[in-house]
Amino acid sequence: MPFDYAPAPESRSIVDIESNYGLFIGGSFSEPTSGEFFKTINPATEEVLSEVAEAGQADVDAAVAAARRAYDKTWSKMSGKDRAKYIFRIARLIQERSRELAVLETLDNGKPIRESRDADLPLVAAHFFYHAGWADKLEFAGYGPDPKSLGVAAQVIPWNFPLLMLAWKVAPALACGNTVVLKPAETTPLTALAFADICQQAGLPPGVVNIITGAGETGRMLVEHPDVDKVAFTGSTEVGKAIQRAVAGTKKKLTLELGGKAANIVFDDAPIDQAIEGIVNGIYFNQGHVCCAGSRLLLQESVADEALASLKRRLTTLRLGDPLDKNTDIGAINSSMQLSKIEELTASGEAEGAERWSPTCAIPDKGFWFPPTVFTNVTQAHRIAREEIFGPVLSVLTFRTPEEAVAKANNTPFGLSAGIWTEKGSRILWMANQMRAGIVWANTFNRFDPTSPFGGFKESGFGREGGVQGLGAYLNVEDPS
Ligand code: NDP
Repeated sequence: MPFDYAPAPESRSIVDIESNYGLFIGGSFSEPTSGEFFKTINPATEEVLSEVAEAGQADVDAAVAAARRAYDKTWSKMSGKDRAKYIFRIARLIQERSRELAVLETLDNGKPIRESRDADLPLVAAHFFYHAGWADKLEFAGYGPDPKSLGVAAQVIPWNFPLLMLAWKVAPALACGNTVVLKPAETTPLTALAFADICQQAGLPPGVVNIITGAGETGRMLVEHPDVDKVAFTGSTEVGKAIQRAVAGTKKKLTLELGGKAANIVFDDAPIDQAIEGIVNGIYFNQGHVCCAGSRLLLQESVADEALASLKRRLTTLRLGDPLDKNTDIGAINSSMQLSKIEELTASGEAEGAERWSPTCAIPDKGFWFPPTVFTNVTQAHRIAREEIFGPVLSVLTFRTPEEAVAKANNTPFGLSAGIWTEKGSRILWMANQMRAGIVWANTFNRFDPTSPFGGFKESGFGREGGVQGLGAYLNVEDPS
């Protein structure tokens, strides 16, 4: 008889959540001019966590003006060595407060504490450490002897990795000498507001980082603001296209990191057990709310039955439930809206003739949940093979030859990532060359590192974040991607 796991909840007492939060502009928190606030909830329980300010046009103007003042008077004049000291200080404070930040992220986002603690937070700190190291060495980055900053960066981020996406954007911007106005997603503002507190704690000069909360409309006002020099956006392809249209014809430099529909390709010589772990990590990590998720599994026909049986066996061991429990593998879906989207797309999968399978698992009464799901009998024409579901849903297709795998993998408007599982090094190199994807993982999946550039092809966006290449997006130089 298998033993059950005892509950192992992480304590939330380490986090003090205020009943409401203002806007972080010019180094301090202020009330929104509209006087309006919106609620942010815990998606696992639907409990209201806090009320957060809704920034309107006057607040966006004030935040951009504060960033401009800080840029002109302080940050652009400071030496790289001094900027580095602040960024190192931020990195160390993130490490010191990592348990608190991980619990806060899990409460506001719904992701398992195991992931916020072991994946998100270490990467957040690593991004600040890495970029702090660049701040005084930009002349050696390959962009000329004295590369210049751009000015004020408007940054709009999504809800799937709230603090990590902040780090990907804020760390290179500051290292390169820019100031920032950042808008977190409406459903996950709390860790960005905790980051504002860290900026105060680090003694960062007022206005270098400004955090304004609000809905999509606030994001639109920010990216369209005439005094912004750079726009960085991560989110849906639809909003990315709207932003590109809004920025066209202006001097603003733009990077877009949008959706994906990655193929995870398993050849018949792959170590199957290892590949199964990679498939699970590829699509069920963070409830599948991952732009580079391996949402299309391409199995070579000769091993398809064996691999599917192993995968299903493995999925029966995943534990769905309380995100604060350290044994939880699958947490809550971030919002009721996202849950409806997943439900609609999976219903279309069945309606179009694909076969749906999920392990039996108890779904909590409250909150937003979706069980890990596998679709077989999927054709390339099905919506579940073409559209980004952004949930724990895997669409399985098969192939016979490497050429067929390439054709199927590239048959998508997206091009963010891909995975290849095979023992043959030459095949990995050949396949990687054929993939129209910004990131190709070989015999692994969903690995991230601040030294490694991340970004897409086609409708997955343009520009790179991370690595030397990512610095170019925040300097007054030609975009390297
Ligand atoms: P959005 O693209 O709408 O949200 C991303 C960010 O942009 C949020 O901060 C959002 O604010 C803001 N925003 C919304 N509209 C505008 C606008 N017109 N101008 C500027 N900023 C704007 O994604 P959703 O949260 O609506 O998710 C929808 C789908 O997008 C998901 O189902 C998923 O498929 C995909 N997605 C992909 C992501 C990725 O990393 N590739 C990340 C998130 C979503 P607010 O949150 O307040 O709406």
